[in-house]
Amino acid sequence: MTAPEKRRFPITLRALEVVAVTDLSPRMRRVTLAGPQLSAFEADGRSHPGFESPGPDDHIKLFLRDPDTGVLSLPVQGDGRLHWPQDPPVVSREYTPRGFDPASGQLHIDFVLHGHGPAGGWAAQVQVGQQLHLGGPRVSVLLPQADSYLLIGDETALPAIANWLEMLPEDAAVTAHILIGSPDAQIPLTAPKAAQIQWHPYDETDAEAMTRLIPSVPPRGTYIWAGGERAAITALRAHLDGADLDPDQVDLSNYWTLGQAAGED
Ligand SMILES: Cc1cc2nc3c(=O)[nH]c(=O)nc-3n(C[C@H](O)[C@H](O)[C@H](O)COP(=O)(O)OP(=O)(O)OC[C@H]3O[C@@H](n4cnc5c(N)ncnc54)[C@H](O)[C@@H]3O)c2cc1C
Repeated sequence: MTAPEKRRFPITLRALEVVAVTDLSPRMRRVTLAGPQLSAFEADGRSHPGFESPGPDDHIKLFLRDPDTGVLSLPVQGDGRLHWPQDPPVVSREYTPRGFDPASGQLHIDFVLHGHGPAGGWAAQVQVGQQLHLGGPRVSVLLPQADSYLLIGDETALPAIANWLEMLPEDAAVTAHILIGSPDAQIPLTAPKAAQIQWHPYDETDAEAMTRLIPSVPPRGTYIWAGGERAAITALRAHLDGADLDPDQVDLSNYWTLGQAAGED
């Protein structure tokens, strides 16, 4: 299997406005953003390209107020990159663009309402008319060619899995295992007609939860993608290590760490 194609973009800071807030479930809130900076725009003598997100698991950085001080510290736009001030430091969190429609000029981001943190706190209070700054994506990994696809993720990876299922061809052989903290986190998904979508109850302290879902390692030719809590992803990586898999067919990502804010080590 060849490595999936990548596209790189100049990193652009954009100021957008919240134009809709929709609860997809009691656990997941969709924030819809719009504004002239989603299109190509000029600022401070620089030309910036329009927003693009062609990969299913693209990620963008959201820039948020420090919940302790209320200060919003933003990176400074450079040539195709952002400079990060140290004082006060920038508070940023990674999220998945869950659909961008250039025709309507709307970008959706789906937030897990987990009840903590600058991003979780922002999503809990968000209202139409508020501003949100974001940067990226820096790189998109485009859909890989594969005989079949295995997608595994918890609720934070549900936006990426939903993108995968929408982008795959209608005749794709795909299995998605989605781990949810309560039954009401289940949402409707648009997927290829033969897709196997399995929802599993999940206790986020259970590091073996993902590993148990694939007792036998999938055959070569299956593209394996997973995103979720660090310990579960680490266990999954250990489970797959040593199997006869091509590294280009496996993509596992830590999306969050239990008991630890993003960026803390
Ligand atoms: C590439 C990538 C894409 C992502 N896409 C999305 C997305 O589209 N939607 C989404 O909701 N998340 C997504 N995430 C996960 C999100 O970035 C993390 O959950 C992040 O920690 C949230 O920041 P916060 O400010 O809310 O909490 P933090 O300040 O980072 O953490 C505060 C506390 O909350 C806990 N916590 C963080 N996330 C969760 C959670 N999901 N459930 C329970 N406790 C949690 C931490 O363990 C910590 O104790 C993505 C992460 C990555 C790396």
